[in-house]
Amino acid sequence: MPNSRPNLRDLSLPEIEALFTQKGLPAFRGRQVFRWLSVAGVDSFQQMTDLPKELRRDLEREFSIALPELARQEVSRDGTRKLALRLEDGEIIECVLIPERDHYTLCVSSQVGCAMGCAFCLTGRMGFRRNLSAGEITSQVLKAQEILSSQGLDKKKPLRNLVFMGMGEPLANYEAVIKALNILLYPKGFDFSPRRVTVSTVGLVPQIRRLGQEIRVKLAVSLHAADDQIRTSLVPVNKKYPLEEIIKACKSFPLKRGWRITFEYVLLAGINDSLVQAQRLAKLLRGVPAKINLIPFNEAPSLPFKRPDDKTVLAFQEILMQAGYVATVRQSKGQDIAAACGQLRGVLS
Ligand code: SF4
Repeated sequence: MPNSRPNLRDLSLPEIEALFTQKGLPAFRGRQVFRWLSVAGVDSFQQMTDLPKELRRDLEREFSIALPELARQEVSRDGTRKLALRLEDGEIIECVLIPERDHYTLCVSSQVGCAMGCAFCLTGRMGFRRNLSAGEITSQVLKAQEILSSQGLDKKKPLRNLVFMGMGEPLANYEAVIKALNILLYPKGFDFSPRRVTVSTVGLVPQIRRLGQEIRVKLAVSLHAADDQIRTSLVPVNKKYPLEEIIKACKSFPLKRGWRITFEYVLLAGINDSLVQAQRLAKLLRGVPAKINLIPFNEAPSLPFKRPDDKTVLAFQEILMQAGYVATVRQSKGQDIAAACGQLRGVLS
C-alpha cells in the first residue's frame, strides 16, 4: 500500500534544512539526514546513528525514506545488469548497470514510459505514464550501489558514471531531474563528478538552454538524422524543435574546457545510414564541440527497422572521422537481456 508519509528522499538539501528549521531543529541535523540518504544500505532512520534516538523516532513517525523494491535483476553474458524496480504505486522502472574497464556506468530512468514516441524505441511505445520524483531518480543509484556492494563488485569497479538515458525524456521532467542532479553532485553526499554525469535529450530546446544556465553536467543529444524530414519521421518532437534550433542551443551550451556534446545517432538500415546522411551530419555539426556516438540499431520483433551491416556502419563512421570528428560505434551491451538502447519497457514479462 502506498506510504502516505512524505518521502525525505524527494527533498533537496536546502529543502531539508528549511524543514528542520521550521520544526525548531538546527539546520545541521537536516544536513546529517541528507548525508545519510546518500549512503547505500541505509533505509531506516534507526541507522542514522549520529542523531538523537528521540529525533529518529519523531522522524520515523512523520516521514518515509522508503526505497523502491528490486523486482527483478537480469545479468547479461557481458556483465551488464538490468534492474527492474517497483515504485510505491506499483509502477515498474528499469535502470541498467554497465561494466566498463575500471568502473560501472548506470543508465538512469527519469519517467515511467515516455511521451516522445520515437519510432525506434520500445519505451516510446509504452506511452507516458508519469514523471519520476527526485527521490525515485536518486534511489536507482542507491539500489545499484547496494547490489554492487552486496556482491563485492564495487571494490574493483565503483559506480562512477551516470547517464540519464533510460526510460523517459529527462528534460521533460525538468524540475525533478535538476533536483536529483543537485543531490547526486553534492560533494558531501553522493559526490558524483559533473564530468561523469550526462543528461541526454531528444532536443527540447528551451530546457537545453535552462540546463546550461542552471547546472554544470554533460549534455548528449539524440540526433538520429541530419535533415528535418527524416528526423521528424523518427523523432516527432523535431517538428516543434527543428535541427537548426537544436544546433543553435548546442552552440551556446556552456561547456567546461575539454568537454564535448555527445550526439547519439541510431543507424537504421536504409533510413538514415547513407553516405549522403553522414556528409550532412558532418556539415550540420560544424562549429559544435561534438563527439558522435553511432549506435547500430538493436532489432526488436515489434519494430519495423533493421540494423545496417558492418560495412555501412564503418563507411558512415569513416566520413565523420575524415571530417575531423571523434566518432565511435557503440558496442551495445546487454542485448541478450533487452537492456540495450531503446529496449527498456518497464514490464516484468
Ligand atoms: S528514445 Fe528516449 S525520448 Fe525517444 S521515446 Fe525512447 S525514451 Fe523517449
